[in-house]
Amino acid sequence: MAGRGVTWLGTPTFPKAARTALADPQLRANLRNATTTIRGKRADAVAELPDWEPLRRAGEAIKDQVLGDLDTYLERLEAAVTARGGIVHWARDADEANEIVLRLTREAGAEEVVKVKSMATAEIGLNEALAEGGVRAVETDLAELIVQLGEDRPSHILVPAIHRNRAEIREIFRREMPDVPEDITDEPKELAEAARRHLRQKFLTAKVAVSGANFAVADSGSIVVVESEGNGRMCLTLPETLITVMGIEKVVPTWSDLEVFLQLLPRSSTAERMNPYTSIWTGVTPGDGPKNFHLVLLDNGRTDTLADEVGRQALRCIRCSACLNVCPVYERTGGAAYGSVYPGPIGAILTPQLLGEDVDKQARSLPYASSLCGACFEVCPVRIDIPEVLVHLRAQAVEAKNKTSPEAVAMSALAWAMGDARRWAATQRIAGIGRLLSRGGRISSLPWPGSKWTSSRDLPAPPKETFRAWWRRTRG
Ligand code: SF4
Repeated sequence: MAGRGVTWLGTPTFPKAARTALADPQLRANLRNATTTIRGKRADAVAELPDWEPLRRAGEAIKDQVLGDLDTYLERLEAAVTARGGIVHWARDADEANEIVLRLTREAGAEEVVKVKSMATAEIGLNEALAEGGVRAVETDLAELIVQLGEDRPSHILVPAIHRNRAEIREIFRREMPDVPEDITDEPKELAEAARRHLRQKFLTAKVAVSGANFAVADSGSIVVVESEGNGRMCLTLPETLITVMGIEKVVPTWSDLEVFLQLLPRSSTAERMNPYTSIWTGVTPGDGPKNFHLVLLDNGRTDTLADEVGRQALRCIRCSACLNVCPVYERTGGAAYGSVYPGPIGAILTPQLLGEDVDKQARSLPYASSLCGACFEVCPVRIDIPEVLVHLRAQAVEAKNKTSPEAVAMSALAWAMGDARRWAATQRIAGIGRLLSRGGRISSLPWPGSKWTSSRDLPAPPKETFRAWWRRTRG
């Protein structure tokens, strides 16, 4: 599937990557601490609002309205941006979007760009594409900067360095920042100050900034970025040229629709009543802010996702990351195991859909990276029924499989055994032998093909006595 970003090619399938992550106690401790804290804070922030449920339903309805008429809203947005001096570009896939940004950067005569934290640019691998074209991208969000300096991969939508603790971050800064004080401690204030000093020069000299967008208002052509640190605002105001890469599903019809999401997003993501910085810009304004504004509208598999009636709800996502923080699977494996810029429950449904039918093995394994406990749906501010989509994608995966796959053969054998009372009774007697393999009432290792199951979960040991035998003994 040339041209589509999203996954890190060559990463192992989820079960393999998860096993590696589970063997890392430091990673698990870092994740447990971080997700437990944010989970509790989010629950408190949400409980403050008596109308949280109606707000969620309003968010869901607005997003569904947009997705049902996406072309109309996008054309309206394009017209409004153009009327206010911006230039709109359409990109079918990652390659097209990267080419556009690289060309615009070169035209602006820049060898370095400052970046506002953005999932869309991570999705298309923009930093790597710019580097290949001789342009250095500097992340200005603190957590993104930690990931970039540590030559690491992001593991969370909102806090990409969630898998790192403070001591690890201090070591990265001491190693990679030439101007950092030798005696810097791991106090968050000192680390943030070091990053601020490191970035100041970049803000003042950069000619080009690249951002994503949380929302775009179709009626006015306004682009919205919300953030906590204020570094994004520096990028959005100081450089001469601003290039925004935005997924086509981010458009909302009007300013009053925006109001709903500006309430839903901060409480769900950082457990704040209001995010500290909300930057909104509309085209260009002479004498104020960037002189050139380019908006790159990115498809990259979204139109195909839209065509799936069950799966399209994933496009409602506002990237708050609440579903990651409550997911028992994510909490134990971390984000890297998902092999995608979109980890956790939303990644498990979005990544395979964005990649389409010819998805790689790693992306195909993602719909199985869930216990289907439903916690993700409970917290999702736009009511995406993630478990429903997971089951839907699993069904598609089974349908697409060869009829001679081990799973299909096992199901046919089971159907044959269960199709006749005597055959089923005989099967139960044979299965009883499995008790010999059990320890403490569970079987954790079966020979092939049973190993396909026990490689990632235990099997309850067969009971001493089957229901039929018990019935005969007690009633017959
Ligand atoms: S799926 Fe819902 S909870 Fe998860 S990141 Fe998206 S909006 Fe947030």
